[in-house]
Order: sequence, then structure tokens, then C-alpha cells
Amino acid sequence: MLFTDKERFKAAFTDKIVDQLGKPLEEASGADVFNILGNMVREQAGRNWAETNRRYRQGQEKQVYYFSMEFLIGRLLGNNLLNMGDLEVVRDGLEELGFRLDDIEEEEPDPGLGNGGLGRLAACFMDSLASLGYAGHGCGIRYKYGLFEQKIVDGYQVELPDYWLQKGNVWEVRREDKSVDVKFWGRVETDVDSSGELVFEHKDYETVRAVPYDIPIIGADERHVNTLRNWSAESVMQPSKAFGMRAGSDYHKFLEYKRSVESISEFLYPDDSRYEGKLLRLKQQYFMCSAGLQSILRTFDKLGLPYTALPDKVALHINDTHPTLVIPELMRLLMDEKKMGWDQAWDIVTRMVSYTNHTILSEALEKWPVPMVRELLPRVFQIIEEINARYCAELLRRYPGDEGRLADMAIIYGDQVRMANLAIVGSHSVNGVAALHTEILRKREMRLFDEMFPDRFNNKTNGITHRRWLLHANPQLKDLIDDTIGTRWKTHPQELIGLIKYCEDASFQEKIGEVKRANKLRLAQYIESRHGVKVNPDSIFDVQVKRLHAYKRQLLNILHIMHLYNQIKAAPSMDIVPRTFIFGAKAAPSYHLAKRIIKLINTVAHTVNNDKDVNGKLQIFFLENYSVSLAEKIIPAADVSEQISTASKEASGTGNMKFMMNGALTIGTMDGANVEMHEMLGNENMFLFGLSAEQVLDYYQHGGYYARDIYNGDGRVKEVLDQLMNPGAFCCDGQDFGQIFHSLLDNNDEFFVLKDFASYVETHVEIDRAYRNRPEWLKKSIINIAHSGKFSSDSTISRYASEIWNIRPVEL
Ligand SMILES: *Cc1c(COP(=O)(O)O)cnc(C)c1O
Repeated sequence: MLFTDKERFKAAFTDKIVDQLGKPLEEASGADVFNILGNMVREQAGRNWAETNRRYRQGQEKQVYYFSMEFLIGRLLGNNLLNMGDLEVVRDGLEELGFRLDDIEEEEPDPGLGNGGLGRLAACFMDSLASLGYAGHGCGIRYKYGLFEQKIVDGYQVELPDYWLQKGNVWEVRREDKSVDVKFWGRVETDVDSSGELVFEHKDYETVRAVPYDIPIIGADERHVNTLRNWSAESVMQPSKAFGMRAGSDYHKFLEYKRSVESISEFLYPDDSRYEGKLLRLKQQYFMCSAGLQSILRTFDKLGLPYTALPDKVALHINDTHPTLVIPELMRLLMDEKKMGWDQAWDIVTRMVSYTNHTILSEALEKWPVPMVRELLPRVFQIIEEINARYCAELLRRYPGDEGRLADMAIIYGDQVRMANLAIVGSHSVNGVAALHTEILRKREMRLFDEMFPDRFNNKTNGITHRRWLLHANPQLKDLIDDTIGTRWKTHPQELIGLIKYCEDASFQEKIGEVKRANKLRLAQYIESRHGVKVNPDSIFDVQVKRLHAYKRQLLNILHIMHLYNQIKAAPSMDIVPRTFIFGAKAAPSYHLAKRIIKLINTVAHTVNNDKDVNGKLQIFFLENYSVSLAEKIIPAADVSEQISTASKEASGTGNMKFMMNGALTIGTMDGANVEMHEMLGNENMFLFGLSAEQVLDYYQHGGYYARDIYNGDGRVKEVLDQLMNPGAFCCDGQDFGQIFHSLLDNNDEFFVLKDFASYVETHVEIDRAYRNRPEWLKKSIINIAHSGKFSSDSTISRYASEIWNIRPVEL
């Protein structure tokens, strides 16, 4: 705790304002208050941070490093105050000084250093590691520009650069003294040293300086403070050093070098499934891996232990394949710099590295052109070649003459380096992120690998931190739960199950209903302030927020809304519970179909929201710039959570868990972690529809699906699809949606939107029916909240810790 009581906080805070800003409190702006408060919190955390590090070093505790190209951490002020136990005192104190903490939190830039679920998972894991007392740290990139800021202009997505550092970052500490050098390009010379050993020397390289910016990750006990270390790429100031042997004092050349170096940590790639700008992307990956490993080895060196002890003291985890280069890079460091032999180095590396697979979408499986890797990273490429040669030899020993298997499983094949294959071969653990996803990996996508390495594959279902997604995002619900079952659930989220006892208690149901209504009113005000339209808080808030992607099927949602609208137009007296459909989604800038779908949603919204016949029965809002801070506003207000991906395509989902924890009921397919939700909730407390993963995969394999048959056979489908092509029903934009129409019919509807349409429509009718029975609905909502503790990332992290990393919490 930073402050023992409110009066002390007020006095200390007022002094700081005067001392640091040279102005009286009355003149302080919201931004001033944020900065001063942030600095006070950081300073306090600093003491615990130093102590945590001292303790880790002294106890020689095993450290986990979580390598991820994305950390979507969200705003930190509120969560830091929460974890430090200062939230109430600060809120009340500021109130008396004339400031609202909620407004002050809005002053903080929301760092968009991630695309979506994968980056947010990394952030939830950081919070759980520190909160459970594990020595676990993050390793990432300090992008100067995060994911683009999205504006909606005339219904179209417009991307603006997100310069989140403009006003500085109170949380980070630049650690110049911990900088390391990363080398690119050049060539490798082979020589024999005095003892007859082969030595490899990297010549004519270009040097990039990696400077770490550390962010303290404050655990829920406030005392454990771990580190998120993000690397920034900078030029080396002496040109002779920068270019190695290619020395030259040509100033132009130096400026060119400086620009190209700084571009490495300039932008986060805004595409979460395909990668453009390949060379820069590869540079980013190697930059992060090499800088991270060098700094980890430096820390390890201080322990004074032999390198054979590395796997007992350090675990390296790679979040998807983006950091796979840790495998050959650590081989390089151990062999070339620490003079270790191949076999011993390989044993150490594979015992240290573990890998999480996040997708089976084939367009997202990373592959690099061989010439690119060879030229950019000549020594690392040699090592990858050697790993591949030894592994392919072993494959042929096990499966003599099986060239087909070799073609599927090789790391280098044709002209490509396949990162997933390298990650599997070079690690001791490969995990999927939900039971169904892991099953599909083992039985289908990676079947041959599972056969070759049967103990390597395991499942770790994703999770979310209940501290951010419940305690912080939904304080009224937190208070109500505290009043009902006590407070132990905050440290033992599984104990939320205690709420089950109250699911039929009429007075508790009413209280749950009141909390939801208060959250809906708050969101309604937010929407009104943005869209200038009044929102009916008694309507069903039906929400789909997530990245825009064909497989996530926002298209199915909007086609269903078009159908509802058609029904109302045909029979304006139709009896339905009023619905407010809420969307939030960013589309990758080059993903044209996704951007068309955004335009379609906005076009339909415009028509429906302005049609008098609709008479309040339907409202549709697309909230721009979906991000962590917006998610925290939207999710607590949702009645219905749309988790409608094509079965087999969503590896886990974590949005689904956030909604469940906040009492929304899910309409979903049997996909990702929805399957595990359903296992606990049963059919009564969740609305399932659509094809199963098995059916979808069988269609892909054997064919037999004809989208046009559905178009011809189902009048509702024909009507909405024809409306995509004909101006009229939806204003004058009709022709714009030809691309969507063609993707469904000419390209035979790759994601089974039309196939699942009928079942989706029926299930929404069921939701309408269920909502009318308020006690029953609230009961379902309570049952959802009660079971959501299973999805706390605290449980997920405990399992990673004991089953993959072999670490235990460190007592402080
Ligand atoms: C949780 C979260 C996601 C992931 O949502 P899914 O529904 O699992 O795809 C994406 N973006 C943000 C900002 C999130 O908070």
C-alpha cells in the first residue's frame, strides 16, 4: 500500500503537484494528475521491484522468460492501484480534491502493442505470473507506433498512426546500461583455432543497438514486481562500429543506416494472420530474440554457475512461432561465444524452450524464403541448416525411404524455412490453447509430429486475468460478489462457484440485474456521446467485439440483422424484445473483404437506426477503435456474447471468457474454449448452434457443401444476399457489396456462413424467448459468472508453471 489513509494521500499528492509542476493544485489538469499519480505509483513499485530482483538473484530462483512480439497490456494506472491495494484510498482522496479517478484513467494512452487475442493473452499472463509470485518476465518490442487507431468515416475504416509515446510513458524505465548489440547481414568465415576446433566468425555485419525499456509488472500482493522488457532499436553512433569491416565515414550512408535501423522497432504489424513486409518482420523477430537472449545470459552469468545449469535456472517460452529464432540464436550463443559443442548445446536449448501454437489457419503458418534468411542472418541460417540436416537424418532412420513424410516434416523444404516445424523440433513442449484446438493439432494438422514426439504435445486452455476483467472493469459486480460470498474468490477465483447457491435467490438475481443495468446505462451514455443517438437500456445488448476476420463471421451476424429488419418491414407489429447490436472490430489495412464487412455493418446500421418502421426494435452501433480500454467499457454491459466462429477455426478465444465472467450469455459454435464453457454450463445456460468442427473439417477434406443450394433453397438467405447486390433496401451503397456476395456464392462460402444461417436464426429466436423470463435469464447469468473462475489465467499459469516450466512461486 502506497498510502495508509486518505488524508496522507491527499497531502502527499498535493505536495508532489506543487513540487514537480510548480503550480497549485487548482491549476492542475487531468493529464497533470495522471502523470503525478503514475510517478508516485512507479516510485513505490520501484522499491519492491528492486527487492524482488534481489531476492530472485539471491535465491538463484529459476526464471521464465515469455517471448512475444505482442503485449497488449492496456492502461496500467487503475490495475496497478488495484494490485497495490490503493484503489479506494486514491479514488476517495482524488474525489475530495475535485478529480474523478475514472476521468484521470482516461488520460492514460492505451498502448496498442498487440493485434488481439495473442497479445492480450501475453498481458494476462504477465499479471498472473506476478500475482501468483512466479519469477516470470516478458520480452518484447517497444514499438514506437502501436496498432493503428481506427476511425469510421462515412462507414469506412480509416487508419491513423498510433503515436502512443507522444506524452511520454510514466511506467517505463530506459536501461541504457543493459543495452546489447545485434548483428545483421555480412558473411561467415570458417577457421580452425589453435586446438584444432572449427570456429565461425561473422564478418562485415551491420550492428544494431538494442536498448531495453523496462515496465514493472506489479503482482496482486504488491510485493512481487516482475519485468516486462521491451527492446528499442537504435543506431550505433560511430559509423565504423556500425558497419563493422565495411567501415566508412560517408555521412549519407550513415543516415540511411540510421533510418533503416530505427525502422526495426517502429511499427507493429497490423495483420494478425498474414505477414507483409517480410524482411522487416524477420528483422524484428531476430532483433527481439537475440537481444532478449543476450540479456538473459548476462543475468545468468552473474550467478557464477556452469552453462550446464542453464535449464535448471531459465525457461524460455515462445508465444506462437514469431520468436522461434530463439532456438538457433541460443545455439549460436552457446557454441560460438560460450564454446560449447553441438550435442550439449542442443540438449540445453531443447530443455529450455517451450512453444505455444495459436492457430491452424494455414495462411498464418510462418515461412521465410531461404535466401532472405541466409543473407540477413548468415550464421543463424547455417545453424538452422544443421538442425534440419540432423533431424532429417533421424527421420529417415525412423522411417526409411519415407520421402513423403520428410516433405511434410522438414524444417527447410524447397525454398522455405518453416518456423512451426523448427519450433516443434527445437522445444520440449508444444501446447495448444484449448482442448479442441490441441486435439485438432494432434489428430490432424500435426499428426506426424505427434507420432514422432508423443510426449511433446499438451493442452493449456487460455485464460484471462479476473483482476482486470472483473475487479477493475466491473467494480459493482465485484462488490456484490464480496457481499454475497466473501472476498476469498479474489485470490482463488475458482471459488466464484460459491455463487451457484444463490442462482435461484430472487433478491440476489435482482441485484445482479441492477448491476447489469447500471453498466448498460454507462455504455448507453458512451454510445450517445459518440453517435448522438439515445440507446434503450431495456433492450438486449447483443455484442460482437474482436478482430474482423472472415472466420470470426461478423458477416453471419450482420446478415441475421438484415433478416430481422426484413421481417420487421414485412410485419411492423412483430413481437420481439428490442435488441441493440454492438460491434467493435479492426480490420487489417490490406484485408479488403474485412473492410467491406465493416462498411456493410455501418450501412445497415444507418438504414435501420433511421427507419421509423423499426420503432425502437432494433438498433445497431459500430464502436470505433476497439481496444483493451474500450473492451473494459463494453463487456460488463453485454447481455449476449457473440462467439460464432466457423467451428475448428478459433483456437481458443478469450473474449468469450471475459463476457462469461461478466454475466453475459453466449451464443456460440462448438469451437475453441466455447466447448469447455459448454461442458460446465450445459445447454440450458449457453446457446449453441451450427456445424461441429468435425463436420467442417470433413467438408474441407471431402467436399459436399454447395453454398448456392442454400441460396436457392432458403428464401431468407436469398433475400438478404440479393440485397447486397441491389441498391434499394440499404440505401444507395448496394453495388459496393458485390465482393461479399461473390465470396459467399462464387467462392462457395469458405466459412460456412450460409450453412449455419438457419440454425443461427433459430437460436436467436430462443434467446428472445429466454430473455422474456427475467428470473430464468438472471439465473443463467449467475451460473455463467459462477463457473468463470475456471478461466482465470491464474489457473492457466499454474499449469504452465508446474507442467511446462517446472517452477514454483517464490516466497518474498
Ligand atoms: C480479449 C481481446 C481480444 C480477443 O478477443 P477474441 O474474441 O478472443 O478474439 C482482442 N482484442 C482485445 C482488445 C481484447 O481485449
